[in-house]
Amino acid sequence: MNRAHNFNPGPAALPLEVLQRVQAELLDFAGTGMSILEISHRSKDYEAVHNAAQQLLRELLGIPEQYHILFLGGGASLQFSMVPMNLLGPGVSADYIITGAWSQKAWKEAKLVGSPRIAATTEVDGKFTRIPKQEELDLDPNARFVHITSNNTIFGTQWHTFPHTGSVPIVADMSSDLLWRPFDIRPFGLIYGGAQKNLGPAGVTVVIIREDLLAASREDIPIILRYKTHAKENSLYNTPPVFAIYIVKLVLEWIKERGGLSWMEQENRAKAARIYGVIDAFPEFYRAPVEKDSRSFMNAVFRLPSEELEAKFLEEAKKRRFVGLKGHRSVGGMRVSMYNFVPRASIEELAVFMEDFAKKNA
Ligand SMILES: *Cc1c(COP(=O)(O)O)cnc(C)c1O
Repeated sequence: MNRAHNFNPGPAALPLEVLQRVQAELLDFAGTGMSILEISHRSKDYEAVHNAAQQLLRELLGIPEQYHILFLGGGASLQFSMVPMNLLGPGVSADYIITGAWSQKAWKEAKLVGSPRIAATTEVDGKFTRIPKQEELDLDPNARFVHITSNNTIFGTQWHTFPHTGSVPIVADMSSDLLWRPFDIRPFGLIYGGAQKNLGPAGVTVVIIREDLLAASREDIPIILRYKTHAKENSLYNTPPVFAIYIVKLVLEWIKERGGLSWMEQENRAKAARIYGVIDAFPEFYRAPVEKDSRSFMNAVFRLPSEELEAKFLEEAKKRRFVGLKGHRSVGGMRVSMYNFVPRASIEELAVFMEDFAKKNA
């Protein structure tokens, strides 16, 4: 077996032990004589998986009882519209903080159903290189919520301390950093994220919604799009993405066995320190556009001195089985995605390669 060093931005690396477990259980799940792909989502065997995944998420993130945990389809992109459809309406306002392409998409959807405001944007000439400071935020105390993107996957920036929004709940797209570390959930009214970067495979979107927002959410929208429908039916209103939820459950067990989110945070901090350490050691060679205090622990973005050197970097990286290092087309250059399940060993090999490459080509 010759596994690649996987730095894909999403879908991204999964723990090897989890993939092996999936493989081992595939033909005969829990003694049923069938795979989990072939059994009812209303069977006892599946139900145990579904509830365990919820319970593990609750435990790892320390989510209090007044929050509901939902497993939905449609990706984070469907949440861009479900959030405003459920929580806004004609004339109802919400504050959006724009820190990249994903927040822009969320904002566009909100404009279709309500009257959102932009409370801050860090866009300069189509680029985003930082997270706004608290004093830059123009927050409306009457807003229904404040929407943020906690980690900007494409531009490589991340909120390190969340904005203070008073009594207005934060709604956060955490698609690319949920579970990277423990955090205090209390200022949040709703959190959503596609699983395929930091918690499992594509297909399931985790939504964590607080009781008061759920109670106030709208009922004059299509039934399938109401948070109330999914909360009431424990995400079994229709057939959920069972295989993805099953893998999320295995991933959560894997994290728990290794020490939970404080362990996860240590790993992620060590990985990011190693990569940014190399970038900062060769400041003439590796140019990181992001302001230091906005740097993402999940996605490190950098350029090389020329596009020729960038092409050469990727070519030599490929020979070493480093995958997924090309930056997003809107940014160019390189992006190292070092999500939860990218092993320390892969990061170490990449860091050594980056040091050698800089020395040879400077
Ligand atoms: C990848 C990503 C999305 C899009 O997720 P889908 O599941 O493809 O809809 C949204 N927001 C962020 C921050 C992302 O990284």
